Amino acid sequence: MYTYYISVGSNIGNRRQFIMGAYDSLSIHPQVHRITSSSVMETEPWGYTEQDVFLNAVWRVSSSLEPHDLLDVLQSLECEAQRKRDIHWGPRTLDLDIVYALSDDGACMYINDARLVIPHPYFWDRLFVLEPLMELDKAFTYNGESIGDRIQTLKK
Ligand code: ATP
Ligand code: CA
Ligand code: CA
Repeated sequence: MYTYYISVGSNIGNRRQFIMGAYDSLSIHPQVHRITSSSVMETEPWGYTEQDVFLNAVWRVSSSLEPHDLLDVLQSLECEAQRKRDIHWGPRTLDLDIVYALSDDGACMYINDARLVIPHPYFWDRLFVLEPLMELDKAFTYNGESIGDRIQTLKK
């Protein structure tokens, strides 16, 4: 069994419905055992700022799916939400990123190939990921830094 942290975002249309629809679909997947969601938070756009505000959340997902198989599932959920890829970091109905993963023994998993990079290369720089993540796991650390300290640094 793996533990995945998934960053969820939407800034087009009925944002909450896109997020909750994907949550419901993922939660009935036969290889998904448990999902815990942070609260859903409104956040300012990151990277490409000329767009509407986002709703973001982080889900902690316990699943027997291998990482690339989970990515397939997440990408099919994005397709169901009519996700289009026009502008890099631009507006989207639904974005589902695997930001961090733990293997059965609790060790951080590292993957770096053409389809999948875990830990996600920007997750530690994004308040819209770290604030909901901290709600799920106050004791989270990355490379020896606590998530609380990191959030304070990013807010400075
Ligand atoms: P960012 O990844 O910086 O948040 P984005 O979410 O807007 O940008 P997308 O267009 O949604 O980027 O995804 C581009 C590709 O990123 C996907 O086709 C997928 O193969 C790849 N990818 C690499 N690592 C991950 C990951 N950890 N989670 C989700 N997709 C990933
Ligand atoms: Ca993303
Ligand atoms: Ca993405």
